[in-house]
Amino acid sequence: MSKIMAVANQKGGVGKTTTTVNLAASLAAAGQRVLLIDLDPQGNATMGSGIDKRDLEITVYHVLLGRKTVSEARKKSEVGKYDLLPANRDLAGAEIELVDVPHREARLKDALQAVGGEYDFVLIDCPPALNLLTLNGLCAARSVMIPMQCEYYALEGLSDLVNTIRKVRAGLNPVLEIEGLLRTMFDPRNMLAQQVSDQLQQHFGDKVYRTVIPRNVRLAEAPSYGVPALYHDKVSKGTQAYLALANELMSIEDGLRK
Ligand code: ATP
Ligand code: MG
Repeated sequence: MSKIMAVANQKGGVGKTTTTVNLAASLAAAGQRVLLIDLDPQGNATMGSGIDKRDLEITVYHVLLGRKTVSEARKKSEVGKYDLLPANRDLAGAEIELVDVPHREARLKDALQAVGGEYDFVLIDCPPALNLLTLNGLCAARSVMIPMQCEYYALEGLSDLVNTIRKVRAGLNPVLEIEGLLRTMFDPRNMLAQQVSDQLQQHFGDKVYRTVIPRNVRLAEAPSYGVPALYHDKVSKGTQAYLALANELMSIEDGLRK
């Protein structure tokens, strides 16, 4: 069965999309079969996977509305070597259009049933809000990866997200668990970042990934070339960190299977 993981944090700009794209590419480079789902009308994960969101006729929006299947809407990211269920601004309308639809939080989950066996990992890039799109991500997933910057307000936002996950588990998706917290854009010379990182480890223990993603300009540049960082600068610290994260995830999975 594939591992379906939502990458979520309602706080904007914490590295959700950078993580989803680079983790997808790193897992694919390690031979894993990966589907990346862009669930954000900004379409950043789509562009970062080398697919122009403006040229798309069929996207995840049509899948959520039940007009197309995942197989019909997915594209191959040639540069990332994974499959992509793309998004563009059409998706912004989905929330309103789904208002009267029964089980509207489970649209993505239902649509994924048909392709589940085809992938080792399904990674869902959620938008920066606790809205119906994110809810669809959380219902479809078995776990949540939470990227976060180690800043003063980070912990506060985290409790809202943890509460939402708790509510989703109680009502909509009982198997959902926190997969892990990922420290992103980390600068070890910043004292506050160190302190927040220490607090995170105290509160969440081994739910904090050992891998830390450093602040690295190559990660920020790669999307402007429409490629994951692995194919922009393979030796950069950012690329290496996401390869290490992929290894950490795969070894957690191996541990669970044994
Ligand atoms: P949104 O909430 O808008 O969807 P996001 O959480 O998906 O944002 P990203 O788009 O991944 O965040 O990152 C925000 C910005 O920070 C982008 O310009 C990205 O290139 C940059 N960035 C992300 N991670 C890093 C990093 N480790 N080092 C340097 N820049 C980074
Ligand atoms: Mg994003």
